[in-house]
Amino acid sequence: MRKFTIKAKITIWFSALIIIVATVLFAMVIFISDTVIINNVKDALIETVSANAEEIEYHAKYTDSEKSDDLYIEYLDAYIVIENDFLNMSKGVYTALYDENGNLLYGEDFISAGLDIIEPNAGKIQTIKTAHGSYYAFDVRLTGAGLDGLWLRGSVSSREKNSSLSAIVNLSVLVIPWIVILAIAGGYFLAGRMLAPINMIRKTAEEISGGSDLSRRIGLKNGNDEVHQLADTFDSMLERLEKSFNIEKQFTSDVSHELRTPLAVILAQCEYALEEPAGENDYIEALESIQRQGNRMSDFINDILEFTRIEQGRADMSMEKLNFSNLVAEICDEMSVIKEKNISINTEIEPNIEITGNRALLTRVLNNLISNAYKYGKENGYIKVELYTREDRTLLSVTDDGIGIPEDKIDKIFDRFYRADDSRNTKGTGLGLTIVKEIADLHKARIAAESIEGAGSKFSFII
Ligand code: ADP
Repeated sequence: MRKFTIKAKITIWFSALIIIVATVLFAMVIFISDTVIINNVKDALIETVSANAEEIEYHAKYTDSEKSDDLYIEYLDAYIVIENDFLNMSKGVYTALYDENGNLLYGEDFISAGLDIIEPNAGKIQTIKTAHGSYYAFDVRLTGAGLDGLWLRGSVSSREKNSSLSAIVNLSVLVIPWIVILAIAGGYFLAGRMLAPINMIRKTAEEISGGSDLSRRIGLKNGNDEVHQLADTFDSMLERLEKSFNIEKQFTSDVSHELRTPLAVILAQCEYALEEPAGENDYIEALESIQRQGNRMSDFINDILEFTRIEQGRADMSMEKLNFSNLVAEICDEMSVIKEKNISINTEIEPNIEITGNRALLTRVLNNLISNAYKYGKENGYIKVELYTREDRTLLSVTDDGIGIPEDKIDKIFDRFYRADDSRNTKGTGLGLTIVKEIADLHKARIAAESIEGAGSKFSFII
């Protein structure tokens, strides 16, 4: 069964079921018809014999005045009169008249002429088997003056029943196979139609895996059944796959681009220094430049490693309940020793704020924000770190009075490798805020930036 297609399996199962149902139906029709027909035949037998019993009279003498069609049979010095309404054969029922010894007086006895009349059989239908086939027989004992002791027997061949039944059988044999064929063909067609979208899904998957064209979609329309839902899910999966594939592609190209500039500077410096004999100062200058670019590449690679580590570690991130106030105070203390550009750090920290988070990542957030405030701060400037709760939110903000960010660039600063103005500061990879944003997402937190160019910036981390 495994090597069959789903369409074939459904059709086989469906056909087997239809055939079973049709067979059971056929058997039931035959059984019910048989019962109904037997009852009809037996009713006709009883009816005919009972009606005929009414048509028999006893006359002491022959009278001419009687209807000419009536039949006179001599019986014990008198007459039995069979009126002309007596039906010899009606609905396949033959009626015969016997005397009390079982001798045939009138009519036809197909079963056995002169059969012994047995009292207990009166009023009952018996089945009698003869050389010509089986018969149903019904005996009535006549009563009334002169008729006592006479018997009337009705008989009907069981072939009467069989011929009606065979008509039904013939009809069923003719009709049921067509119904079965129609149902199977309909089922096959329907299964094909229902499974067509699955074939489209398979084709799309094949095309994608063959040509790696992730922009392909199944695009089933107008439908809400399971197959359409599957196709929709498949399409949205492709959408996400394409997006992340493009991000990866962009990432690789961005990384190469970012590394190319310092590398080009290093190579140019080496070439320049080796080209012609130069003085010690020139060599030192070249080496310093090479060192700066080397450091830049090293920072960049460290940031990339950090970033990918955070992105990949999403699944097994450990969260703990921690005293955020203490953590923020510790980090500010540590970073206040930097004293770059004579910038000072002020803190305003609400004590004992507890949150659930990852200590190392939250440290990274504050480190990055304070580092940026130093990096883009002005000589003798300040950095203000605030931590407080408002309603059900915890707010951490880092404000500086540095160079600020132009309004049209503020939306992009969280993008990978984006630097508002590359010329302003060579130290930087454009990944610091991307990492902060990534960590905010992991904590279901939000990061916001406000800035006035030339006046300073404020970064808020809201949990
Ligand atoms: P970078 O390594 O360049 O600092 P970030 O992702 O940390 O990368 O920051 C992206 C850009 O946002 C920076 O290049 C800078 O232009 C701008 N920026 C970030 N923080 C500040 C700040 N405190 N003041 C002014 N500009 C900032």
